[in-house]
Amino acid sequence: MRNDFSSLREKMVEVQIAGRGIKNAKVLDAMGKVPRHFFVPEELRDSAYADGPLPIGAGQTISQPYIVAYMTEILELGGAERVLEVGTGSGYQTAVLAEIVKDVFTIEVVSTLSQRAQDVLKSLGYVNIQFKIGDGTRGWKDFAPYDAIMVTAAPGSVPKVLQEQLQVGGRMIIPVGVDYQELVLVRREEKTFKETRLLPVRFVPLVSLH
Ligand code: SAH
Repeated sequence: MRNDFSSLREKMVEVQIAGRGIKNAKVLDAMGKVPRHFFVPEELRDSAYADGPLPIGAGQTISQPYIVAYMTEILELGGAERVLEVGTGSGYQTAVLAEIVKDVFTIEVVSTLSQRAQDVLKSLGYVNIQFKIGDGTRGWKDFAPYDAIMVTAAPGSVPKVLQEQLQVGGRMIIPVGVDYQELVLVRREEKTFKETRLLPVRFVPLVSLH
């Protein structure tokens, strides 16, 4: 069974990730390493490496492999970074980040999902991830500023509090929009924030608790 999953994973990287133009070696390595089948509900394991998102319970989804790779590559991670993730979900994207960077800080609003992600990530041996259960719209001040921020649920507009937690030179990738969503890259410059719109996407809404 293990071998089946590793060959499915290899194929996924070759066809869906490298095949669609992702070139960053760290991203390709991480996607080739993280066992995605442990992050999906047991009955969906056989579809874990398929080319799309999957339900993970609580009305939430694990993102499509290509989108995970794309959002990771766009952050231009070198390895020494401290990264904030908003929307732990299954913990799959968290693992991909943790393979690449020094420290990952991840926030999830649904406690059952966070708990499950923590169990899986700990059982896989990750020690460079800090978890928080709560509203990630406000970021995680205690550990700010971050070199990069990844948001995996969509707000109507870029939350100012979040971008303020970026380091100068830092990057944030975030889906933005209600009916129509786009991935937006926010780069913090000396005194300004530069926004670049990338591609159209579909994410679950970012819940705001205030
Ligand atoms: N990266 C995840 C994607 C999960 S979907 C994966 O690949 O599995 C987005 C997640 O964001 C959901 O789990 C949802 O519960 C969570 N979420 C939504 N609003 C949030 C908020 N305000 N703070 C933290 N997490 C939030």
